[in-house]
Amino acid sequence: MKTSTRSRIEQIFDRRYREAHQFPKGSEGLRDFAELLPLVRKLSKNDLEHALVPLLDNLIFFTEHCSNCQAKLLVFAEIYCIDTCASKSVEYLHKYEELMADRKRSHATKRDYRLEVYEALGQQG
Ligand SMILES: [Zn+2]
Repeated sequence: MKTSTRSRIEQIFDRRYREAHQFPKGSEGLRDFAELLPLVRKLSKNDLEHALVPLLDNLIFFTEHCSNCQAKLLVFAEIYCIDTCASKSVEYLHKYEELMADRKRSHATKRDYRLEVYEALGQQG
């Protein structure tokens, strides 16, 4: 991976650790992660698995405290991996579905996280 690509990706992930909530509606986090998609699509399978997936997994762990933010991150992770690493993409999808089932059991407010992510991606044009 080019150094400039790597540092851009790392910068976008680093910023998320500085916020109390990583992906509130209409936030910089959603915009940044939508902006990341074209870059991610150019990564090789090797770069995706060895550079991006660890960053995603760490941030997913970090967002354990907020199912709203974690849900949106899981949707992004699923989309990032879908073309290049289908097995990982399915893993993120399953984690997302588990999270939704947990929220349903605890009678949390129903929200369409997938739609929020697709809206952010749509604004990229
Ligand atoms: Zn949150």
